[in-house]
Amino acid sequence: MTDQPILQVENLTIDYVVLDGIIKAVRNVSFTINEGEVVCLVGESGSGKTTVGLAISRALPENAIIREGRIIFKGRDLLNLEIRDKSTIEDKVMMIFQDPAATLNPLFKVGEIFSDVIKHHLKLSDQLKIREKALEFLKAVELPDPERIFNSYPHELSGGMLQRVIIAITLSVNPKLLIADEPTTMLDVTLQAQILDLLINLKKKFGLSILFITHNLSIAAEIGDRIIVMYGGEIVEEASSEELLKNPLHPYTKGLLECIPKTHIKYSKLKSIPGMIFDLRNPPLGCVFVDRCTEATDLCRKDKPRLIEFLKNHKVACHLYRGSTK
Ligand code: ATP
Ligand code: SF4
Repeated sequence: MTDQPILQVENLTIDYVVLDGIIKAVRNVSFTINEGEVVCLVGESGSGKTTVGLAISRALPENAIIREGRIIFKGRDLLNLEIRDKSTIEDKVMMIFQDPAATLNPLFKVGEIFSDVIKHHLKLSDQLKIREKALEFLKAVELPDPERIFNSYPHELSGGMLQRVIIAITLSVNPKLLIADEPTTMLDVTLQAQILDLLINLKKKFGLSILFITHNLSIAAEIGDRIIVMYGGEIVEEASSEELLKNPLHPYTKGLLECIPKTHIKYSKLKSIPGMIFDLRNPPLGCVFVDRCTEATDLCRKDKPRLIEFLKNHKVACHLYRGSTK
């Protein structure tokens, strides 16, 4: 890992236009990812994590509007690319999703899908060479019997195998930044651990930087060098994984930590943070967490806390740690 940023997201603000209004999904989000670093975006459903990932990989749906912000990847603003730069940059940022079965076309064998990608991106035409390349990547993701996988249809493979196939196909494009959106959520605990280990190994082998999106703070702590906590479309806390777990500052992060099941306590009841996320069509004027925070004051309702570096390399947006924005 280096201190060189590969990605800088600045003031990213994204709305979705829907029939009954405007969903303010992401507001003023700024962060960086360094070369070789794994940064985790953590938060409950609806906090805007996937929207950030889709914006970086330039795959937002049509009803999304980027209102403000810049996404600088290796010095170039992805939101203002010249047409000629598009294809060269696009391959360098790849995204994998939660449901591998939905990503692969069920009508084609893995080998056919893989060959198409290799042909297009590596500009190879020799069928033998294409097959050799595909098998090389299937081996790199530690799939047993790559030949069989190559000749299988997606429905003939398990969820864990399919996720490895997707990762192999993604790596064949030689990306520099991998955005992994809840890639282990649909897998059982053992397979989850295997995929996380695999991603860490591949990161080292291929020199990847990773933006890992998850609602699960314990998974983030396992894989992430740094954790960014999002709530209601905004960043509320950011620190190294070690620091965040040892010394959480924001009441929301503390709540998330308390929800991690303590496996050594038998029959312990699963905890959750009381209350629900607000209507994103109408975000609160002050702190985003105000409706669920046990420490909220009048100031929190009126005045939005800024994200500040309260401790060295540890940022938080909460009035408990500093007064008003103005
Ligand atoms: P999850 O873990 O459930 O995917 P998330 O934190 O990744 O949640 P997003 O998927 O980014 O959150 O969604 C943020 C908000 O934007 C949610 O309220 C969601 O319903 C809304 N949203 C997402 N995509 C669209 C869309 N295409 N049109 C309208 N609203 C959308
Ligand atoms: Fe709670 Fe206020 Fe801090 Fe928001 S700013 S998290 S409402 S104490």
